[in-house]
Amino acid sequence: MKKFDVIVVGCGAMGSSASYHLARKGFKVLCLEKFSLNHPYGSSHGKSRIIRTAYAEHPKYVPLVQRAFELWLELQRDSNLKILTMTGALFVGSPESPLISGAKRSARWHSLQHEVLTPTDIQARFPLFHPDPDQIGIFDPSAGMLYPENCIAANVDLALQSGAKFKLLEPLSEWNVSNQDSSNPEGKVRVRTKKGEYESDKLVFASGSWLPHLVKELNLPLQCERQVLLWFRPIKDPQKFRPERMPIFSWWEKSGANFYGLPDVGDGVKVVGHHGGEITDPERIRREVTEEDIRPVREFLSRRVPYANGEIISSQTCMYTNTPDSHFLIDFHPRHKNVLLVSPCSGHGFKFSSVVGEIVSDLLSQGKTRHDISLFKIDRLISPNTNQNQ
Ligand SMILES: Cc1cc2nc3c(=O)[nH]c(=O)nc-3n(C[C@H](O)[C@H](O)[C@H](O)COP(=O)(O)OP(=O)(O)OC[C@H]3O[C@@H](n4cnc5c(N)ncnc54)[C@H](O)[C@@H]3O)c2cc1C
Repeated sequence: MKKFDVIVVGCGAMGSSASYHLARKGFKVLCLEKFSLNHPYGSSHGKSRIIRTAYAEHPKYVPLVQRAFELWLELQRDSNLKILTMTGALFVGSPESPLISGAKRSARWHSLQHEVLTPTDIQARFPLFHPDPDQIGIFDPSAGMLYPENCIAANVDLALQSGAKFKLLEPLSEWNVSNQDSSNPEGKVRVRTKKGEYESDKLVFASGSWLPHLVKELNLPLQCERQVLLWFRPIKDPQKFRPERMPIFSWWEKSGANFYGLPDVGDGVKVVGHHGGEITDPERIRREVTEEDIRPVREFLSRRVPYANGEIISSQTCMYTNTPDSHFLIDFHPRHKNVLLVSPCSGHGFKFSSVVGEIVSDLLSQGKTRHDISLFKIDRLISPNTNQNQ
């Protein structure tokens, strides 16, 4: 049986970064992936991801995103792949909306550079966008877009250079931790795939929406949510939609609907409705995109960004793995201190995956990390009565 220090399950955003950071710290790493590299069936595909700093979800994410930026730039330098384009971010909504009040709270808490814009300011500075008179904007200059397929390829390339092994199209089918005794308190991890068995000291589940299936004993309250990505051809002024001219945007409507968009880097303007998708399962998700998926996005564009509302160039489906409070899960399995669960990122995790890799390598090498991950604990997700035996 082949032996490793750490086995990582999943090679999406989190697993590829964890593998890279562990391998560069000297761990002998095996990463198992169910599909091929950069496949379109999980949560990490789709050509672009937003990274932003005035973080509406909670001020505790700000230091994490600041460290993530440093690591993305390092990855770009070391891999020679295009990882990040800075565009700034425009958040629009009523002053009380969670997007605007949350972004302001983070900006004030951390004294972040930002601008508060009236609707007239927004129209003057970004004529593509049409806010209501009672909507305001926050401009966050420390924001931009990541190229997820390049990020993952860069992690894998650099992990390979540090000795990690990747086995693609080889899903983990079973795992257990054996021989926990006083001389070996953590026990050894054994995993099985259709092609073989492997042993390691530690195991990392970075398996996204598949996590609940792999740690059934925890009965985790995670939901897999279907999301639809659409790329539009601008009907006018296409050069104004390029990243040099257009910031990424997120728009909170009175109805509670939240849409976001990213500039055209050659594939069209990407526009997505954030949340509101059907709750599904990674094995049964509807992959076809229908008129019903497109209609609300078109309605949003016709109101707010009418020049973007042209022909649909392409579309894809993707999955969020949501926790009940929308914060992440990064913690040890309650019964196994050598099994780490790292994934459910509630639709906003990609930008952090660089720093999440660093956190994983800290936790597995020292049992702790300097980063504040207190929002991501497992206790909040499991009931005391859950049978955690595995
Ligand atoms: C439409 C959409 C837009 C998003 N936009 C943003 C954004 O703009 N900014 C942002 O920060 N975040 C964004 N996110 C969220 C972010 O992309 C995700 O949080 C992140 O990609 C999750 O990565 P992951 O590694 O946890 O999951 P995944 O990428 O799904 O990776 C899990 C991997 O595990 C593999 N796997 C599963 N089971 C097994 C098994 N048994 N054995 C081996 N491998 C297995 C899967 O095949 C998969 O490759 C978005 C998500 C979506 C869906």
